[in-house]
Amino acid sequence: MRRLKTAPALRTAGLVLVLLALLIVTTVLLIRWTSSYARSEMETDLGAISRTAVSLLNKQRIQKLAEAAPDPKSPEFIEVRSELMRVRGSAPAVRFVYLLARRGDNFIFLVDAEPEDSPSYSPPGQVLANIDAKNTLGIRRAIAKEEVVVAGPYNDQWGRWVSALTPITQRDDPISIVLGVDVAADHWDSEIKHYRKFGILISALVSAIVLLSAAMVFMEQRSRRKLQSEIAHQKVLEFKLRELSQLDSLTRVANRRRFDEVYELVWRQALVADIPVALLMVDLDKFKAYNDAYGHIAGDHTLNCVAQTIAQLVRSNDLVARYGGEEFVVVLPGTTEPTAATIAESLRAAVDALQLPHSRAPLGHITISIGVSSKIPSQLSAQEALLALADRALYEAKSLGGNVVISL
Ligand code: GH3
Ligand code: MG
Ligand code: MG
Repeated sequence: MRRLKTAPALRTAGLVLVLLALLIVTTVLLIRWTSSYARSEMETDLGAISRTAVSLLNKQRIQKLAEAAPDPKSPEFIEVRSELMRVRGSAPAVRFVYLLARRGDNFIFLVDAEPEDSPSYSPPGQVLANIDAKNTLGIRRAIAKEEVVVAGPYNDQWGRWVSALTPITQRDDPISIVLGVDVAADHWDSEIKHYRKFGILISALVSAIVLLSAAMVFMEQRSRRKLQSEIAHQKVLEFKLRELSQLDSLTRVANRRRFDEVYELVWRQALVADIPVALLMVDLDKFKAYNDAYGHIAGDHTLNCVAQTIAQLVRSNDLVARYGGEEFVVVLPGTTEPTAATIAESLRAAVDALQLPHSRAPLGHITISIGVSSKIPSQLSAQEALLALADRALYEAKSLGGNVVISL
C-alpha cells in the first residue's frame, strides 16, 4: 500500500496541537488554582482577624447594648466602640469594623468604629441599606451557620469591599448580632493578582520546559531519521559501486575478478554436491585483422555486440565474463559436456548469424571459436586444469580454422 509522504508532517502537527492544547488547559487550571488558593489564604487571614476580635469582645456588654435604645453616649457604647477601634487599628488592611443587630428583616448598626466626623460613619440605630445582596446574604449565612463567612468583593455606597462576617450570638439568642470586618477589595484583588502572577510564571516555566523538551525530542528524531536515510542511501551507493566494480566497462559482462570469484564458488559447490561444472572458452576469430581493417573503435563496438549476444543466450545461472582481450569465458554450473557443447554450438551459430562484416575473415563476417570442457570436481585445486582443458580445446578449434566448437 502506498503511504502518503505528508503523514509524518501531519502527525507532528497533530502532536504539536495536542501539546499546545494540554499546555493551555494546564495554564488555565494552574492560574485558576492559584487564584482560588490565594482567595482561601486571604479568607483564612481575614477570618482569623475577625475571630480574634470576637474573642476580645465582651459579649454581655454587647447584648445589653443591643437590647437598650441606641445611645452613643452610653458607657456600654463608648466601651465597645473603643474595643472595635483597637481591632480596626490591629491590621493595616482592615478598613471598617462594626457590629450589626437584626431588627425584623433588616440589620441596624449597633456600633461603628469609624470616627464620627467621617462621611462613612454610621450612627447607632442606622439601618444597613443600599448594600450589595452578597453582603446581606453573607450576614444571614453567618448567623445561620454560626461561623465566620467571607463575602465579596461587593459594592456599596462607600466603595468595593470584602467582609468577614462573624456571628457573636447563638442561633436561639433573642437578638442576632454580627461583627463585620471589611477590607478594601482593591487590596484583596492585588493580593490575588500577586498570586496569579506567580501561577502564570510557574505555568510559563513549565510550558517552556515542556516545549523545549518536545522540540529537542522532535529534532533528535528528525536527525535520527535523516541519518537512517543517509545510511540507506550510502548502502545503495555501495551496492551499485560493488556491482560496477564487478563489470567489464566495455562489454558490460562480468570482469575477470568476478569470474575468479564465481568460478571458485561454483567449483566448491559442485565438489560438495558431486555435480559437473562446464567451461566455454570463446575467442573471436581473426580479430587482430578486424582491428587493422576497421579500426579499434569499430573493434570495441563489435566486441560489445558479440558479448551481449552470448550473454542473452546463456541461462540465468550461467556466468559470462570477459577473460581478457577478445576472449570470453562462460561458467555453466551443473552442466555435462554434451549439454555444454550444445550451448556452445548455439552461441557460435548466433554470432555467425549476426553476419557482422569482416573483409579479412575466410567467411567475410565475424565468427567465434569455442573450446568446451566439463568435469565433476574431485579436488579443489583441479579447477585450473578444467580451465586449461577448455583453453586447449579452443586452441584445437583455432587450428581447424575457427568458427567451430571443440569439446575435450
Ligand atoms: P585468432 O583467430 O587466432 O584468434 O586471431 P586473432 O587476431 O583474433 O588473435 P590475436 O591474439 O593475434 O589478436 C587478438 C586481437 O584482439 C589483438 C587486439 O588488437 C584485439 N583486441 C584485444 N582486446 C581488444 C579490445 O578491447 N578492443 C579492440 N578493438 N580490440 C581488442
Ligand atoms: Mg582471436
Ligand atoms: Mg585471443
